[in-house]
Amino acid sequence: MKYKAFHKLSYGLYIITTELEGVKAGYIGNTAFQVTSEPPKIAISSNKKNKTTEKILKSKKFALSVLQQEANTSLIGEFGFMSGDDVDKFRDMETITAETGSPIVLDSSVAWFDCKVIDSIDVGSHMLIIGEVVDSDVISQEDALTYAYYREKFKMLAPRNAPTYIEKEKLEEEEGAKEKEAQAAEEPEQETQKNETESDSSSFTCSICGFQYNPEEGDPTAGIPPGTPFEDLPEDYKCPICNAGKDYFNKD
Ligand code: FE
Repeated sequence: MKYKAFHKLSYGLYIITTELEGVKAGYIGNTAFQVTSEPPKIAISSNKKNKTTEKILKSKKFALSVLQQEANTSLIGEFGFMSGDDVDKFRDMETITAETGSPIVLDSSVAWFDCKVIDSIDVGSHMLIIGEVVDSDVISQEDALTYAYYREKFKMLAPRNAPTYIEKEKLEEEEGAKEKEAQAAEEPEQETQKNETESDSSSFTCSICGFQYNPEEGDPTAGIPPGTPFEDLPEDYKCPICNAGKDYFNKD
């Protein structure tokens, strides 16, 4: 099996929300797809570890907002990588209440759907939840964010809870990275020299969300110019996706 083949599947990115006993919950998912046209139904694949999943199954309703291409990254960070126990994800969001009672996030979205749950299937790590669409609307004519665009822009791998998550090691194996390492081990002197000259250009990955800082590109969202080594980033530098500090980054 070639894991890279899975990267050829196309997805969007969505904020999936619900409400149970007055408490709003939501997360960012990349698996939402229309499964029938009449009546229109949408299926989502939702990780069992995700607290929103249980709430959707209990409340029997969910809404999804389709994110726009240039979505607010802090919104992606909070809904995608933080727990509702630690932060009120809805505090600064413009929302409306859907017919089912689910909160609909309007920020950074191009369209939304309000669904009542009609079925769910246990597929192992995830629940496949099927909802009948009771209402929908278009918010803006901007392009929707695709998962491929997001992955390329932020050099991201899918988070562990995503149904499309693939272990980094498996991808590296396919790219022959391990082979190269073995080759380098046979030429230790040469490799040492190389490390000395390349140390400043090492990339670092956020251990919380998987964002990769590449010195060649810098971080335009934080005003960090290309060519800035990770070591030279200001001490208060924060991950542009999940807001984690420098301490959370590991050298690749
Ligand atoms: Fe991060």
